[in-house]
Amino acid sequence: MSKAEVSLEHLVRVFTKPEREDSKLAEMEKHLSDNVSDFLSQHVVTKKMSLEQIERNFADAHVPETPEFVSSHTEVLMDKLVSNSVNTYSPTFIGHMTSALPYFHLSLAKLLVGLNQNLVKIETSKAFTPLERQVLGMMHNLVFDRDAAFYDKYLHSAEYALGAFCSGGTVANMTALWVARNVMLGPQPGFTGVARAGLAAAYRHYGVNDVALLSSRRGHYSLSKAVDLLGIGREQMLTIDCPTQRLSPQKALQLAKDYQARGNKILALVGIAGTTETGHVDPLDELADVAQEIGCWFHVDAAWGGATLFSNKYKGILKGIERADSVTLDAHKQMYVPMGAGMTLFKDPNHANAVRHHAQYILRTGSKDLGATTLEGSRNGMAMMVYASLHILGRQGYELLIDQSIEKAQRFAQMIDAHPDFELITAPTLSLLTYRVNPESVQQRMAKQADNHQAYNAQLDKLTVNVQKAQREAGKSFVSRTRLQCETYQQQTITVFRVVIANPLTTEQDLENILQEQHQLAAKTRVWKDLVAGNLPLTA
Ligand SMILES: *Cc1c(COP(=O)(O)O)cnc(C)c1O
Repeated sequence: MSKAEVSLEHLVRVFTKPEREDSKLAEMEKHLSDNVSDFLSQHVVTKKMSLEQIERNFADAHVPETPEFVSSHTEVLMDKLVSNSVNTYSPTFIGHMTSALPYFHLSLAKLLVGLNQNLVKIETSKAFTPLERQVLGMMHNLVFDRDAAFYDKYLHSAEYALGAFCSGGTVANMTALWVARNVMLGPQPGFTGVARAGLAAAYRHYGVNDVALLSSRRGHYSLSKAVDLLGIGREQMLTIDCPTQRLSPQKALQLAKDYQARGNKILALVGIAGTTETGHVDPLDELADVAQEIGCWFHVDAAWGGATLFSNKYKGILKGIERADSVTLDAHKQMYVPMGAGMTLFKDPNHANAVRHHAQYILRTGSKDLGATTLEGSRNGMAMMVYASLHILGRQGYELLIDQSIEKAQRFAQMIDAHPDFELITAPTLSLLTYRVNPESVQQRMAKQADNHQAYNAQLDKLTVNVQKAQREAGKSFVSRTRLQCETYQQQTITVFRVVIANPLTTEQDLENILQEQHQLAAKTRVWKDLVAGNLPLTA
């Protein structure tokens, strides 16, 4: 390996723009983007390389003593990193919410890194700060649909914030619940508020035993991280069973009333607009009524499903979201923006002030610094990627993307339904569905032997796991798997394949092929043969 010299001169060169257009760096740049493009245009998801093998490439825990030439280091990156990455652009990669991006992001990313702005503070992000505020305003408008006077007043106001931009849905949920906590246990005459006095003093002042968060079992695990971090405690995360995959407003109301009757308070009721596991949308309008009746904050986690609001045809599924106090959105999911773009939006722009912080050297009172009301400190200008996408695709472009995903998922559901050896477990509300492989003869036997469902399901779980792993290892395609409580099987929890349709390049033929591949993999397994032969172990 060629080593570069250790000299200040060399280092200065590293920081300096090359003089000639045809410089080595320019060549390398082309080489790099060609390499990435080649990688992304392969039809495979991953190379057949075990994680252990890859770990051997990253085994040395020493900081390299001497510098290396950029060009030679780049080769190392291509070889060790790029070639063994997961091709999330592959049309047969349909297992996660991470998918292909429009190619223009590759070029725009240069602006982001090139300018290296820091959004914490207007002194380091003069044009990016107004841009980020505008993006928050556009998304606020999409969700809450307020009038022009409202946005004129709040969009660029130093005293208010329509939301907070952050790295993703997790931080967005935390920010929303942080605000909810500080509003609920806020300052009163004789009490400085939870932000200053702390949680113990707040409970004493407000005379509560405990404070809880209420959501369905399908709530994202970031909610339980949030209650942990906010000091409320994971035991106060009240989750409600939902065999239909949607939170029942009646159950939520009942549980909240019982909880309050024991001298406790509900911090927030969380409605989910697109659950991570099945893509279901809670009945948001009715949940808004429940929150109103309990007198608590209403948060909607629309990290994944929020982009449905771009579609005039399907946005009705999210009806009631406009009644939320706060809403989480992830632009790096169905808005096709690179990883690291989340938002929380506040219906009332004054609410962000519940977490406002000032620091003399950096976040001075009256400044428009976004860092005063965000959980994170230094932040890059990812909002630019959202801004660019919103313009380059437009609402109508997004509408097309959303509609085609949902409709493709519906057709995939029909294919699964029509196949004798597959079983659709949850039909798509949006573009997410779950299913499993289940031989026709076994399905017929199960229909007659309800007592035996548990034993059959235990075997079918194994089958699903085997197939999902074998498919992943083969590297041609990828679906994920999860465990779900299932209405059709007396609320038993079963293992299912989980599919997220997002890549516009995924064709129906790709989906057919995936079913075929899974079928072949399944039919080869021991479990399949035992199931079909009717050999059911009695251990389950
Ligand atoms: C993805 C997701 C999150 C978490 O978002 P990150 O960007 O991964 O931090 C939270 N809630 C829901 C419903 C999600 O789909």
